[in-house]
Amino acid sequence: MSHDPNCIFCKIVQGQIPAKKVYEDDDVIGFHDIHPWAPVHFLLIPKQHIASMADLQPEHAPLLGKMSVLVPRLMKELGVTNGFRTVVNTGSDGGQEVFHLHMHAIGGPRPWLKG
Ligand code: 5GP
Ligand code: ZN
Repeated sequence: MSHDPNCIFCKIVQGQIPAKKVYEDDDVIGFHDIHPWAPVHFLLIPKQHIASMADLQPEHAPLLGKMSVLVPRLMKELGVTNGFRTVVNTGSDGGQEVFHLHMHAIGGPRPWLKG
């Protein structure tokens, strides 16, 4: 599995910095965002270092499919029953700050939701 020693999310994957995990298997890990935008806000990431959605290759399709299927399951487990938003920021113009691919999963009562 490829990791980037300078990547903060690779450090979370490797247990070098702590995170409040909501899910983990051999391929992906989910953990609460440190600065939540909503009552429930977790990030789902591949364990291997993929810098962004712009770096995806055809062989990554099952991994991304797995992540997409996990989000509704985890939302349900976290008590979110009334809908949620998923966001993937890609590249600097896309608002990406951490260059390890991650899916934001954001839910809870609606006042936080704009646009
Ligand atoms: P981006 O703008 O790259 O899509 O979002 C990166 C997200 O990662 C931000 O929402 C930020 O709060 C979160 N984040 C950055 N560093 C850490 C960290 O060390 N731990 C956790 N749990 N979240 C982080
Ligand atoms: Zn990484």
